[in-house]
Amino acid sequence: MQKQEAKQKAMEAIDAAADRLNEFVRDIWKHPELGFKETRTASKVAEYFDEIGLEYRDEIAITGLRADVDGAGDDLRMAILGELDAVVCRDHPDADPETAAIHACGHHAQLGVMMGTAIGLTTTGIHEHLGAGLSFIAVPAEEFIELEYREKLKAEGKLEFFGGKQELIRLGELDDVDLAAMIHSAAELPDRKMQLAAGNNGFVGKTVRYSGQEAHAGAAPFYGVNALNAAMLGLMGIHAQRETFKDEDSIRVHPIITRGGDLVNIVPADVAIETYVRGKKTEAILDASAKVNRALQGGAYAIGAEVDITELPGYLPMLSNSRMNDLFAENASGLIGEENIMRVGFRGGSTDMGDISHLMPAIHPYIGGIKGRGHARDFEVVDEEMAWLIPAKVMACTVIDLLWDDAEVARGVIDEYEPVYDRDSYLDMWREVIEG
Ligand SMILES: [Zn+2]
Ligand SMILES: [Zn+2]
Repeated sequence: MQKQEAKQKAMEAIDAAADRLNEFVRDIWKHPELGFKETRTASKVAEYFDEIGLEYRDEIAITGLRADVDGAGDDLRMAILGELDAVVCRDHPDADPETAAIHACGHHAQLGVMMGTAIGLTTTGIHEHLGAGLSFIAVPAEEFIELEYREKLKAEGKLEFFGGKQELIRLGELDDVDLAAMIHSAAELPDRKMQLAAGNNGFVGKTVRYSGQEAHAGAAPFYGVNALNAAMLGLMGIHAQRETFKDEDSIRVHPIITRGGDLVNIVPADVAIETYVRGKKTEAILDASAKVNRALQGGAYAIGAEVDITELPGYLPMLSNSRMNDLFAENASGLIGEENIMRVGFRGGSTDMGDISHLMPAIHPYIGGIKGRGHARDFEVVDEEMAWLIPAKVMACTVIDLLWDDAEVARGVIDEYEPVYDRDSYLDMWREVIEG
């Protein structure tokens, strides 16, 4: 088989499966589930894997599934991912009446792309001509939400990190994977367009609690230790650090005071702050995060209050592999026209695909076919073909390009790539962040 013939065959198989794929994705849209609770969604993915003859393992990182096929070569493996989880938007007309869950981030479309790619590459036997094995992975919990529920799962020993892909890394599920790819729906992009981003910002989160001594604010404030003053000095300290943040790192620190005192005639003794520290590069985020902590501690020291900082590991920045993005763009051009491939810089949102991109070459292109804003009441698929059928074809063709001829192109991509972490140093990094 020639490469071009393989691409044609993969695309025809996806077209032939279009009705079933559409039905699968529409059904998931109608039954949204939140992260680490996606049991029905997982069972529908399992059902479809069965239908197309793929063997899989399930209950990975609680609700995840992974189906593997071997290629002609067995020293490399490429993963195509799709996310299982929904978000919450009570005002969305299609939101689940009980949980308010809704696929307003478009993760249902990703599952269509993952499954469509699997159909294109495996039901045709094309995988046997590829120089690497393939893994189709349905991943739980991309959205960083319901932190209390996840704290509980953590206390029960069911997870350590709050992102599904972080858990896949921790569990060693990606140890044998060398490249990874997934798509994401682009909000407010109803047209047949795609956006290839250089990457996404990463972040760490913090909850901060200042404890002082309450006292009568009028009669005896001299008995008090004013936790609000300590917190305000802490915030001033953060602002005084801003000139040390480099423009190219796009550091954003945006704290809020979530508790500022109880009664106006009592010196505040219990004050709470929450903040994110965002940026383009891990080192820059961690550097800014250390400065933020120092500033927060400085406020407590000045007033004689106590400060307790809880670190929440967020997600690493997404580092999109440019060679893989180029291949994706080339294949997409053939289907939607080169003029509809938009190159964009760093995006402000975050994804745990960023964590994977620090261990292996990875891409996360954004796909049109969606009207309305992300995570909002007007999010809606307006072009199903664009939202999952076309990107499934593009993904299948990109995989073929990477893995044809004993995965020659993929080997070049891997050679050029310098991993920031391996699994152990990755886990050490986050555990150090959590310990503070
Ligand atoms: Zn989202
Ligand atoms: Zn998303």
